[in-house]
Amino acid sequence: MTFVRTILGDISPESMGLTYSHEHVVIDNSYATELNPGFLLNDETRIVVELREFYKNGGRSMVDTMPANCGRNPLLSATISKASQVHLIVPTGLHLEQYYPVRHWRYQLNEDQITQLFIDDVQIGIDRFDYNGPLVKRTEHRAGLIKLATGKAPFNQHQEMIFRAVVNTHRHTGVPILTHTEFGEMALEQAKLFDRLGADLNHVVLSHVDRKVDPDYHRQVLDTGVRLEYDSAFRWKDPNPNGTYQLLKTLLPQYSNQIVMGMDAARNRYWRSYGGLPGLSFLLTDFKSDLDHMGLGEYYQKIFYQVPQKLYSFQRIES
Ligand SMILES: [Zn+2]
Repeated sequence: MTFVRTILGDISPESMGLTYSHEHVVIDNSYATELNPGFLLNDETRIVVELREFYKNGGRSMVDTMPANCGRNPLLSATISKASQVHLIVPTGLHLEQYYPVRHWRYQLNEDQITQLFIDDVQIGIDRFDYNGPLVKRTEHRAGLIKLATGKAPFNQHQEMIFRAVVNTHRHTGVPILTHTEFGEMALEQAKLFDRLGADLNHVVLSHVDRKVDPDYHRQVLDTGVRLEYDSAFRWKDPNPNGTYQLLKTLLPQYSNQIVMGMDAARNRYWRSYGGLPGLSFLLTDFKSDLDHMGLGEYYQKIFYQVPQKLYSFQRIES
């Protein structure tokens, strides 16, 4: 029996309901927020207000995407999920190098040690201290996703080691994989490396690829079998055409089983409850009517229900 692992426990894929695929619900004080104070998202009241609005508009699940030692707070995530009734999937894994100090454990530990930290987050529970060390105190709240991130440059040895640790964890536990790409660059290389390492590409999703508006490139990546996540629908500003909409128009008819969407609203100025815009309900309101106007309304269910349910379910490859 397959399942989806949320911060409050395992649920059936069908119970996910309408799902956003790349969110930042909680970003607590961390090295990343010291560098980027605009990232800070730890005001329980405001987060619950925004998520209740999402729920009222029909939203039911969010995939939160801050990985290990980058602002996770499993207890706060659990509290927010309970208060808002929104299912939260919280990841393990690692973000871009720029979000960690130079002597971070990611550079000190070997592949097996990092794999074990990831596996324990998935199977036992996320560390209360978010692997900030030196002690680990596991909560009952388990990770339901594993993340890695690459930039615009070819992968270096350290990044390749992280890929192996992520795929080891994925194969051993069945946890699905989500990546960060920098403006869609290196997406094809990510897909090919996951394939070589033996990942199940039906459970791998590459994020932010719509920032590279090149349909032929998207086709090449989609033809490997991975899923793509688009999250810039609200970012394009006049007079520029909406690149995300161009891609959806071109690609949805052929690849509707491989495209999911989110907001990636990692700055509190995008949240209504923090006084910002457009608010996390954008995809349920403005975007939904835009999709209808483009004649793509029939794909709404796939983007937000069917594809996420399969993608985020656990599928174990080895025991
Ligand atoms: Zn993100």
